[in-house]
Amino acid sequence: MSTTTPDADDAVLSVENLSVSYGKVQALKDVDIAVRSGETVAVIGPNGAGKSTLVDTIGGFHDYEGTIRYNGTEIADSSTPALIDDGLFYCTERRDLFDYMSVEQNLRLGSYLNNEGEEERLADVFDLFPRLEERRSQETQSLSGGEKQMLSLGRGLMSDPEFLILDEPSIGLAPVILQDISEALESIQELSVEVLICEQNITFALEHADRLYLLENGAVRRSGTPDSLESDKFVETYIGG
Ligand code: ATP
Repeated sequence: MSTTTPDADDAVLSVENLSVSYGKVQALKDVDIAVRSGETVAVIGPNGAGKSTLVDTIGGFHDYEGTIRYNGTEIADSSTPALIDDGLFYCTERRDLFDYMSVEQNLRLGSYLNNEGEEERLADVFDLFPRLEERRSQETQSLSGGEKQMLSLGRGLMSDPEFLILDEPSIGLAPVILQDISEALESIQELSVEVLICEQNITFALEHADRLYLLENGAVRRSGTPDSLESDKFVETYIGG
């Protein structure tokens, strides 16, 4: 393990000894992960490693053993609206958009719990993703996959987040759209928002993360900075593969 791995005490989000099972299938085993103030952290790993289970659990979708603290409070003791109110926003891999609503309506749902400054935030999202402004009245179901990804991210930004969780933001995107998402992520990082990204696309993760964790079979196998992991033989097998 890299010495740059922070103590849970320094962290905005700390996950300790986290275990999650689906019946007899144990998807996560004693996972420890921490995200410090201002950091972007990526969780990488192959199919079935447990990445979505990890972020779904942080997002409140699963029972768990262990501890998950956001700003020092156990998330199981908070409701989803309370976590969102506290700045935590989770953009799921499913995206969870409302197909029959317009782009603008989906965006405004992001600020449902906090509509102070909503118009300014909408303008900021449209600056970041001009395609969404062009399609603001369009029904969401008719958007391309890349546009839906922009909308999911844009809706997250409408909540005025302090901490964004992104599950597979690069999945299924053409290179030109991936570039737009990359640039948007860089703009988000400039806002000092903490970001936790789950990614199978290791190149994308290495490009954006301050630190990474490699999950395999539900356990953390490696953690460290992009530089320390890029030269790690074990990680190389994933990058190469
Ligand atoms: P991918 O990159 O393919 O989405 P992942 O790293 O996100 O994979 P998970 O979706 O978290 O992995 O799955 C972790 C393990 O838990 C896998 O073995 C998967 O089959 C299992 N699993 C996930 N969801 C369920 C479920 N609802 N019921 C039973 N097993 C599940």
